[in-house]
Amino acid sequence: MTEKTVEKCEFKTEVSQLLDLVVHSLYSHKDIFLRELISNASDAIDKIRYQSLTDSSVLEENSGWQIKITVDKEKSTLTLSDNGIGMTHDELITNLGTIAKSGTKEFLAALQQDKNNVNLIGKFGVGFYASFMVADKVVVITKAHQSDAYQWTSDGKQGFELLPAEKTTRGTDVVLHINAESKAYLDEYEIRGLIKKYSDFVEFPIVMDIEREEIPKDAEGNPKENAQPEKKIVTETLNSMKAIWAKPKNDISQEEHNEFYRHIAHDFTDPLEVIHYHAEGTVEFKVLIYIPSQPPFDLFVRDAAKGLQLYINRVFIMSDAKNLIPPYLRFLKGVVDTNDLPLNISRELLQQNPQLEKISKNIVKKVLSSLKTMKEKDYDKYLKFYQAFGTVLKEGLHYDQANREAIAELLLFESTKTKNREYRSLDQYVSDLPEDQKIIYFHTAEDRVSALASPYLETFRKQNREVLLMLEAIDEIVLPDLFEFKGKQLKAISKGEVELNDEEKKTAEAEQKKASETYQDLLSYIQSKLAANIKEVRFSKRLTESPACIVLDEMGMTRQMQDLFKAMGKEAPQQKNILELNPNHSLLAKIDNLFKADPTSEKLTDYIVLLYDQSLLTAGFKIKDPMAFSKRLTDLMVAGEN
Ligand code: ADP
Repeated sequence: MTEKTVEKCEFKTEVSQLLDLVVHSLYSHKDIFLRELISNASDAIDKIRYQSLTDSSVLEENSGWQIKITVDKEKSTLTLSDNGIGMTHDELITNLGTIAKSGTKEFLAALQQDKNNVNLIGKFGVGFYASFMVADKVVVITKAHQSDAYQWTSDGKQGFELLPAEKTTRGTDVVLHINAESKAYLDEYEIRGLIKKYSDFVEFPIVMDIEREEIPKDAEGNPKENAQPEKKIVTETLNSMKAIWAKPKNDISQEEHNEFYRHIAHDFTDPLEVIHYHAEGTVEFKVLIYIPSQPPFDLFVRDAAKGLQLYINRVFIMSDAKNLIPPYLRFLKGVVDTNDLPLNISRELLQQNPQLEKISKNIVKKVLSSLKTMKEKDYDKYLKFYQAFGTVLKEGLHYDQANREAIAELLLFESTKTKNREYRSLDQYVSDLPEDQKIIYFHTAEDRVSALASPYLETFRKQNREVLLMLEAIDEIVLPDLFEFKGKQLKAISKGEVELNDEEKKTAEAEQKKASETYQDLLSYIQSKLAANIKEVRFSKRLTESPACIVLDEMGMTRQMQDLFKAMGKEAPQQKNILELNPNHSLLAKIDNLFKADPTSEKLTDYIVLLYDQSLLTAGFKIKDPMAFSKRLTDLMVAGEN
């Protein structure tokens, strides 16, 4: 026999980081190792069973799907064997030596800083690597269909060793050499308990050979008299294998839901909400969906696996059927099972299947209406949901025209009338509107403090009009898509003219007239001075305290939108803004005096440029030449001392 060549491989950095975290942060959650290994075994069987639908040759090797647990107390090993898809030599290296999930590197690097945050690592799902919490050595012996068997061995530190193995049937054995502190996992009752708790609903039998003492029986099957008990091995199935989604709603306990959720979501926490229903009509299907209570680490990673699991007649078809739910509901976890699709349908055909489209539409409606009910009936729970997933949900305003109104009803915003981190819905805003107000006003800013300090709010405060505060970057992109809600137009307060009632209009007109009489020449002069940057200079109807502000054209892009363009590497279309002056501010009188005394004075120019620059700053824009701004300000302060 030729000598077997041993390959020695190092773990990729992200695996080493994960292993380090698993061992250091999750020691109080050791139990999950078995659930993770059973999940992997059950996924592996799902995959080969799916393949067998179109290629029956895989069944010749072995079928009778099952997951077997074997304990050897003397050797301190616990082995999980499945007759699933197995792994080839190269798959072994990739699957158990790297982590394929996108965004992993960044996430793990962040986690290294915060090792004790179980919550954070719970967002990740540690999978196979959880084995190293209970084992000081793990051996994986595996064989894929029509390929050679290999053995992978590791102590979970630097790397692993690979060598050819003797295994003759397809599938995988994971042998855990249980460490000194985890011997309890070799106990039959401990294992039974864990399986009942975490993996009862797994679709395939999880079996174990159990040693029983039995009195031998006679030919008729009755216990022989005076016979000594004999040791016998019986194979027992430890799980009930009931597809939880097929059970009647009321027969499922919250505990069962929690465990099933953790099985499919690889999460540590319990789900926030369960949506379970059976749809009948042109397409029949069962849906069991969970809303997680915290976002996964890769919620915003573009190509992360997301979607629901699709089953056809209880046969698993795929794990992240993206076209079952739109991306803005990508936080949902769950299962859809239907009898109305052909079992051997290809993944490509599924993408454009009209039945699936119907199912998807139905699910979206149901999820949105469940969220609405949650918002009305259990606001505290809804707030938790919204804080975790509100940002993602908002994407729907842009992408799902048909459900825009329903999504808008679910939105919450802080406002000038709420406290910090208290919210108002658009509905509440609209129902509290004074009769004469036809517009829903909002203001976008980075945070509440800068939003409230904005000069744009001055008139609104005086008029006692509520303004919604949009404090997330996405608001700027998606709110224009909404355009209106319940017949009321949405409008940024930094744009266009302000809305005044008849009385306010009269006062404003009188003030404007007076301002023109006093300052018209100055206004024209400022306009000519700033012509390169400003489209128009006008007297303000919105300012009561500040001397001036930048206002955007009715159709113009808000400052945040311009920033977003820049962040995406695009050139924001050149736009000139409007400068509004407050004729009642004493600064204007002061500038006018300078202007009248000597329109060519350098001091006058400094004042005008400073006025413009500070308007840019209070509106959140950058000023073109901060050095010049600073010099002007310094000179002014020095002069002011004399
Ligand atoms: P996850 O299951 O979340 O993908 P794991 O780290 O648990 O992550 O497993 C990594 C990969 O290893 C799996 O995606 C799968 O391809 C492969 N794998 C793990 N266990 C098995 C098994 N029992 N049979 C076949 N492949 C497996």
